[in-house]
Amino acid sequence: MAQQPDCLFCKIVAGEIPAIVVAEDERTIAFMDINPATRGHALVVPRDHARDLFDIGAEDLAACFAAAQRLAQSMPAKLGADGVNILNSCKPAAWQTVFHFHVHVIPRYDGDPLRL
Ligand code: 5GP
Ligand code: ZN
Repeated sequence: MAQQPDCLFCKIVAGEIPAIVVAEDERTIAFMDINPATRGHALVVPRDHARDLFDIGAEDLAACFAAAQRLAQSMPAKLGADGVNILNSCKPAAWQTVFHFHVHVIPRYDGDPLRL
């Protein structure tokens, strides 16, 4: 497993920092965001460290988006979501704050107040 010392999400992948894991596969893990934008907001990350969208390999990128799609598809039945936003921030200029690639999967509810 390609871990980066002092990376928060590498520590979550390794089970060294607790998180509420909602899905896992060979390449990815998904867990609840600690500061959810809406109820059920989750993050999908590759198990192997990559800093951001510019850095991640094509296979891990595809695996993350496939996992994000599966999670999104489960949200209407599991959470009563009416829609979903998928979001990635790459570099601080684009609001990235944790430098281990992640896809936000944000369930949306008719009339919810979130503005991106
Ligand atoms: P970014 O701003 O980089 O796109 O997103 C980072 C996300 O990671 C934020 O939504 C933030 O709430 C979440 N986050 C930061 N620290 C932790 C943590 O320790 N655990 C979990 N589960 N999420 C975190
Ligand atoms: Zn990492």
